[in-house]
Amino acid sequence: MIVVMDAGATEENVQQVIDKLVLAGFSVHRSTGAVHTVLGGVGPTETIDPAEFEVMEGVKECFRIMSPYKLANRSFRPQGTVVEFANGLRVGGNEIVIMAGPWCVESEEQIERCAEMVARDGAKVLRAGAFTLTSSPYSAPAGVGEDALRMLRKAADRHSLLVISEVMDAAEIALMEPYVDLLQVGARNMENFNLLRALGASKRPVLLKRGIAATVEELLLSAEYILSGGNYNVILCERGIRTFEGYTRHTMDISSIPVVKKLSHLPIIADPSHGTGRRDKVLPMARAAVAAGADGLLVEVHPDPDHALGDGAQSLKPEQFTELMKQLRGIASAVGRTI
Ligand code: PEP
Ligand code: MN
Repeated sequence: MIVVMDAGATEENVQQVIDKLVLAGFSVHRSTGAVHTVLGGVGPTETIDPAEFEVMEGVKECFRIMSPYKLANRSFRPQGTVVEFANGLRVGGNEIVIMAGPWCVESEEQIERCAEMVARDGAKVLRAGAFTLTSSPYSAPAGVGEDALRMLRKAADRHSLLVISEVMDAAEIALMEPYVDLLQVGARNMENFNLLRALGASKRPVLLKRGIAATVEELLLSAEYILSGGNYNVILCERGIRTFEGYTRHTMDISSIPVVKKLSHLPIIADPSHGTGRRDKVLPMARAAVAAGADGLLVEVHPDPDHALGDGAQSLKPEQFTELMKQLRGIASAVGRTI
């Protein structure tokens, strides 16, 4: 149930609606926009007549949301969500935010070189796994945990970057929070509902990647788990899905970007590295994602990708990343945005 308050509604009007919703058995989520306050009620929608709310003072309109996700629905925040970080960086606003770095932290020197390189070219967030695992138990080390997080944080701080890293398990959240600015949920964990619930209680923003066989609706339902726990700072990520095509590692579903923009208020970024699995395909897909309206990109870059511990084939070489940033600036300005 969505209740949209009038532009001139008083705090008392808002409180009366909240009280009535609570009394009727709803849990209430509030979104205070520049013009309208919107109240999202999750509860026994079928038994309530929206007219009961529409006659209340200060209420503009009230309607049921038919889609299974309520808080991720565009109507909860028609103006769109902007996830804002302590250093002022905003995801979901006019700026397209580039997050870049290696698949995982390999050493102090490697992550320092990555940070230096991506910061110089204009990325704002350093990515790297610290607990990352691969699809095969035999193919790569399982990350080096807290030591890796420490190295990642130090390298990012030296170059005024924020940090994004993947959280694999609810038990790791508390350990990671002091080191990372954005907690990444990997494609294979998109339906790990215990993890999503735990992230709903975190103070850190969350980047939720689309599962390799998940529909957009399933992605939004997973986001709903985090939002319903009270953490509204969720960024979605299109990272390619499994299709019959074998030439690329996954099929980069660019169309999900405008689809998500219509259905949801949440920002969405794109990961053309996992989306294609081949470094020569990353730049064209990055251009397409920005042209399609992505709010940012997550890109794998390595100083020496042929010797990377993981994801080398899809990691850009330093000079390729420089070229990517240069070309994206042109695309961004053509669609009225900045990088
Ligand atoms: C990653 O970004 O490091 C990663 C493992 O991606 P995904 O979950 O999309 O496979
Ligand atoms: Mn990977």
